Amino acid sequence: MVWFRRDLRTSDHPAILAAAERSPRALGLFVLDDRLLKPSGQPRIDFLHRCLHALTDELGGRLMVVHGDPVQTVPRIAREIGAGSVHISADYAPYGRRRDEAVEEALGDVELVRSGSPYAVAPGRVLKGDGTPFKVFTPFRNAWLDHGWRGPADTDASTVDWMKPERTDEIPAVKENLPDALKLWEKFRDERLPDYDKTRNRPDLDATSRMSAFLRWGVLHPRTLLRECDGTYRNELAWREFYADVLWHKPETARQNLDRKFDRMEHDDDLELFEAWKQGRTGYPIVDAGMRQLLEEGFMHNRVRMIVASFLVKDLHLPWWWGARHFMEHLIDGDLASNQHNWQWVAGSGTDAAPFFRVFNPMTQAKKFDPDGAYVRRYAPDSPDITPIVDHAVERLVALDRYQAIKS
Ligand SMILES: Cc1cc2nc3c(=O)[nH]c(=O)nc-3n(C[C@H](O)[C@H](O)[C@H](O)COP(=O)(O)OP(=O)(O)OC[C@H]3O[C@@H](n4cnc5c(N)ncnc54)[C@H](O)[C@@H]3O)c2cc1C
Repeated sequence: MVWFRRDLRTSDHPAILAAAERSPRALGLFVLDDRLLKPSGQPRIDFLHRCLHALTDELGGRLMVVHGDPVQTVPRIAREIGAGSVHISADYAPYGRRRDEAVEEALGDVELVRSGSPYAVAPGRVLKGDGTPFKVFTPFRNAWLDHGWRGPADTDASTVDWMKPERTDEIPAVKENLPDALKLWEKFRDERLPDYDKTRNRPDLDATSRMSAFLRWGVLHPRTLLRECDGTYRNELAWREFYADVLWHKPETARQNLDRKFDRMEHDDDLELFEAWKQGRTGYPIVDAGMRQLLEEGFMHNRVRMIVASFLVKDLHLPWWWGARHFMEHLIDGDLASNQHNWQWVAGSGTDAAPFFRVFNPMTQAKKFDPDGAYVRRYAPDSPDITPIVDHAVERLVALDRYQAIKS
């Protein structure tokens, strides 16, 4: 049996290859798990459904989809079909690790075989010379490049003969089919990658790859992109690997400050300000445009993610994990490692964090990165008429005072 989770593809799929080595026939299974669905907003769930429809098509209509708790569901189905082994791509995030250990135990004699991961290099592999994990990005990236990664696994939908499931839950209908991720990548590679270095910070231009959601759900493996890029783009993929590595070593940092002196940071708790931020009604146009893009599309440009995160933490003085939770609900690329650690980077409490005195100014950021105001006009044309909910110049000083207080 091949149990799909965040590896919703058949090409370059080591777990399918491992299953094929044991048996020519296999059942493909996906479990709709409430633990993951409940905190997810509609755009995120829709995207998952689109991925599942696409995977079902790849498997000739033979994907079994079951709603339930994997710890009961996976062993039950494995028993029903008499599976000799269950094959997965390893999960490295805290919940996934716990779930897989519980499933492994419940499977008893049926082996749970982990092959491959959602990363070029599995989290935990790249270590410093003294065997300890990296805490800073650049040396991690250099060691990660030196380590290198395996070539793609030679698989496609026909690598195993997919069993027809006896029953399956319906995948809810979707308005649009999933686009061909590989074609989108190739278009980006040919047309935009050459200028990526210069244009990637501009939310008003369609200049980034929009690969994050495909990577999140494993529609593409990062290896596929890494063999065709270098420089800045490769560096960005290395950030994704770095944060997965950090979370693997310190799973508690999904909820806790990596730098524990930030536990002493004074926060406010004004729910009205929080609501204005969530709805994109702060009166700071670039912030409002970003927050509304998130609600409308389940996506936000990276530069704007940094601006709105800084605004929440340093202008509204709200805890970073409030913002992180809202992002995880709405982002279709929402990924615990990348999300929590980018938030911690902005808040100053994470690895390699931005220095505490760097407070993004939403006006100058907008001038620099959305120079003609096209991004704001697209998502929040009315925002310039909203009275700002706080005064940036005042709140910046409050933030600096609070950071100063915990510095030593
Ligand atoms: C507060 C905050 C929260 C974020 N939350 C997430 C998240 O939940 N999931 C997520 O995938 N990314 C997250 N990011 C990182 C980044 O914003 C997105 O990966 C990027 O905007 C996705 O768009 P793209 O694919 O067009 O990016 P591109 O610019 O084309 O980058 C290519 C790929 O590199 C990786 N990447 C780029 N920047 C980063 C980064 N800073 N950290 C980690 N990986 C990166 C992504 O996989 C991305 O698809 C967050 C950033 C911030 C500041």
